[in-house]
Amino acid sequence: MLNYSSWIEIDLKQLKKNISLVNSYLKDSLLCLCVKANAYGLGLIEIAKVAENEKVDYLAVANLMEGVKLREANIKLPVLVLGTFHEDQIKDLIDYDLEITISSFFKAKLVQDYCTKYNKKCKIHLKVDTGMGRIGVKPITAISLHKYLKDQKCFIIKGIFSHLACADQKDHPINTIQTKTFDDFLSKIQPDKSTILHIANSAYLCNFENDLKDMVRLGALPFGCYSKDLPEKFKNIKPIFSVKSKVSYFKIVGKDKGISYGYSFITKAKSQIVTIPVGYGDGYSRSLSNIGSVLIRGKKYPIIGTICMDQFMVDVSKGDAYIGDEVVLIGRQKDKEITIREIADECKTISYEILCSFNERLPRVYKD
Ligand SMILES: *Cc1c(COP(=O)(O)O)cnc(C)c1O
Repeated sequence: MLNYSSWIEIDLKQLKKNISLVNSYLKDSLLCLCVKANAYGLGLIEIAKVAENEKVDYLAVANLMEGVKLREANIKLPVLVLGTFHEDQIKDLIDYDLEITISSFFKAKLVQDYCTKYNKKCKIHLKVDTGMGRIGVKPITAISLHKYLKDQKCFIIKGIFSHLACADQKDHPINTIQTKTFDDFLSKIQPDKSTILHIANSAYLCNFENDLKDMVRLGALPFGCYSKDLPEKFKNIKPIFSVKSKVSYFKIVGKDKGISYGYSFITKAKSQIVTIPVGYGDGYSRSLSNIGSVLIRGKKYPIIGTICMDQFMVDVSKGDAYIGDEVVLIGRQKDKEITIREIADECKTISYEILCSFNERLPRVYKD
């Protein structure tokens, strides 16, 4: 491998620890690890391989393409495709043994027509919209849809699920309404014992103690990028990633000198300035211009001027730093830490988006 100057470090030991911490809390529920969006940017296949060797029962992806990548890498775990599909994707969903989300009568009929025509069976999960307002059948329609799915020989109903809109707001009234709607629906249809019922995501697991159902679907918690404070029971869950670079340039600049595009920063005194070879072209948000900071030699230094596509500047006048020093953009260095949540707050978004934004320009380096 070529030497790189900026990278994302992924601690697979910590991932295993996080998975086992979560599992110790789950008791009998199955664990579905959400590896959509390249496992939240951490590497679909590498994360899935760890999952296969740990106590993970299911993987979830967003679409056909992600599922196919898992199968092509010879991942054998059951894979649920959480999103929808188009008619022309049904063949591959079935051929690659991916479990399909059925979110409407229309979608069910497309799959059924295909299966009848080619004499195929397919594994499905019925998605009920209890209030998320994204995809899924309304609970009243779901009763007849469930009956229809049961009556057709081609469908193997592996699961029935729903998704909460506000699980990260513990006291939001919709949480109880959604869970109750789901339970009422389930009591009406009396699903088979073998059907996996699932509703919980990371926020649900953090905020609600009871009724985890047969399986939980988690991404943020095992990856350590949950966007709120972790409850006491998960206080040992830590981020599995850090974003790092190396100082690429050092200079001394006089007073009243403009730094970077647009001169949004002017030096107030003679300053020592270093350049870091990362930019918005790597997915490091330009909103951090003049706002964010980095760690070098265990100290926090401010980003000055506009973040460019490939580089940005840091004022190190209050300490010392030189070419080649390791720079931490997200993560720990000595006793200091820059959390993904700080970055997310500075960018006015959530930690999930920050993590997903880093692109393939930053190599992922796995530590075991
Ligand atoms: C992404 C996703 C999850 C996992 O969410 P986390 O907050 O990362 O735990 C669960 N369910 C569905 C439907 C999802 O799309």
